[in-house]
Amino acid sequence: MRIVELQAYVIQLPLRRKIQHASASRTDSQNVLVCCRLADGTTGWGEGVPRDYVTGESAQGAMQQLKETPLAQQLDLECHDWPNVIALCERFHPNQQAPDPRNHRSNALRCAVELSILDAFGRLFGEPISAAIKHLQPQCTIAEARKFIRYSTTITADDVAKERRSAIKMRLYGFQQCKVKVGVNGANDPERVKRLRFWLGSKMDIRLDANEAWSVDKVSEKIEPLLPMRISCLEQPCPHEELNSIPLFKAHWKVPVMLDESLTSLEDAKLATKLGACDLFNIRLSKCGGFVNSIRIAEYAHLNDIGIQLGCHPGETGILSAAGRHWATHIRGIRYLEGSYDRHLLQELPTNEDITFGYGGRAPALHRPGIGVTLDKRVLQRMKIAENRWVWG
Ligand SMILES: [Mg+2]
Repeated sequence: MRIVELQAYVIQLPLRRKIQHASASRTDSQNVLVCCRLADGTTGWGEGVPRDYVTGESAQGAMQQLKETPLAQQLDLECHDWPNVIALCERFHPNQQAPDPRNHRSNALRCAVELSILDAFGRLFGEPISAAIKHLQPQCTIAEARKFIRYSTTITADDVAKERRSAIKMRLYGFQQCKVKVGVNGANDPERVKRLRFWLGSKMDIRLDANEAWSVDKVSEKIEPLLPMRISCLEQPCPHEELNSIPLFKAHWKVPVMLDESLTSLEDAKLATKLGACDLFNIRLSKCGGFVNSIRIAEYAHLNDIGIQLGCHPGETGILSAAGRHWATHIRGIRYLEGSYDRHLLQELPTNEDITFGYGGRAPALHRPGIGVTLDKRVLQRMKIAENRWVWG
């Protein structure tokens, strides 16, 4: 079976509330959706969430990259089984106009195209995309199937009343882990985190994400007053440009450090490990170039005794939520898990299925063929702001 057509959409998704952190503030999300059609008419959907401050991508730029990529030449390959499909995904190399030393400037696009291919062939084979994991070469060493997983929650910077409402709601909802965004201009983080610890309760695992807000020599003075609130992890305290200096200061921070903006590819993972710049990686499917590449990064982390979080981008639709669910229910050793916020974050779901997590952040493994969600075409028509189609079969 061959791919005969690719369709790509840029969609604009209104969020239910403003998401604010140290690097950005947004009320909507522009995502790239890709539909892959096989010769027998089977279709699959993939998604990427390009963020310029993470991988230097934009939704319109991803569309342009697709236009400049010889798609038929790369994707017209006969596939009979998962090893063929994985090889096909690995042939996809979007055109690059600029040098890309971190190998990440098309990661969201790669993720969208790869997921659409995995989804289409998963539907054709009658198997979920997680079935592809056992066919990876070299073999995946961290595969482990689980029936249920638990997501953590996030509190973004907001006014006191809204933060209190969020914290109390999340505690009552039974979450066990909560990430708090810090480092936003004008916010008094020691007071905020103290209040949040009180509202979230003593049992909640609280970690912080500074989104590159602090310069590396200032992290000690910023984190010191927050430590009494029992912080389990500090995510991306300083800008990526200061990565080389982190090892000089890190021992004084007295809290495990997770990299996010500095961790977008296997090349990033290797550099951070060589430098000794972190204790954990925040892997996100879109940021890290897709389902398979994210597994490779997780395996590298495991081999080097580095913990992992599977994160997400606010504004992901059910496609990435479901793909993340397949990933998280089949990869072991995930310290923190984010995603499947769909109904809580999006004003309208473009997928027919709602796979938002349930009470306590609990969610089951998905077993339907492919990624396991379908698109509501009417919602897609309303949300789309650009569209392109390539047919070769
Ligand atoms: Mg982050």
